[in-house]
Amino acid sequence: MSTDQGSRPAPLFVGDHPALDFLNTVATPSVTPIEWLADGTELLDWLELAELVDKRVIASFRDRGGELDEVADQARTLREWFRGFASRHAGKSCGAAALRELEPLNELLAEDAVYRQVTSPTRRGSSLQPLQWSQQRRWTSPRQLLQPIAEAMGDLVCHGDFHLVRACEGLGCTLMFYDRTKGHGRRWCSMSVCGNRAKAAAHRARLRDGGQDR
Ligand SMILES: [Zn+2]
Repeated sequence: MSTDQGSRPAPLFVGDHPALDFLNTVATPSVTPIEWLADGTELLDWLELAELVDKRVIASFRDRGGELDEVADQARTLREWFRGFASRHAGKSCGAAALRELEPLNELLAEDAVYRQVTSPTRRGSSLQPLQWSQQRRWTSPRQLLQPIAEAMGDLVCHGDFHLVRACEGLGCTLMFYDRTKGHGRRWCSMSVCGNRAKAAAHRARLRDGGQDR
């Protein structure tokens, strides 16, 4: 895929769910397709921006060059596999029959090395409890960087409502999102890109049809 590395925009976070933001790491916001996970460094950058992996963990993996590039390759494969799953189930209910399709995800999740700890609450949380039950991970290999992504996918599949998983209606737009709007009427990745484009097209069509009426 040709990418415009020079002046490319920052990764998009319009998915309203990390699993869908992950799918949106390849997109065509204007003319040229952009790949935001081209190599290991980019994968680390994205995981940090998405706040899926702690900064210190990211830093500890920065010097793992070739190994990281391999993981980025695996991340792109995981992404396209999940895109297939999400596209098949978007807008519909995701029932128990989907379990068979999720075997690759369960296989990946089974590799994890997580354990529990009692810690003090993070500043982000508003809990009044002085102690927190938290999940930690023994980070030993760069491949584990796929785990927070796999967790996000599992969360969407088990806690999300696939009726609200949508593909942007913009012409040629491949972005997906979770519709958290009150009336569940979200149609666009963003109003400023596809929404306005569609409005302008509708306006032009109205003018044209109005002209033909006479
Ligand atoms: Zn769009």
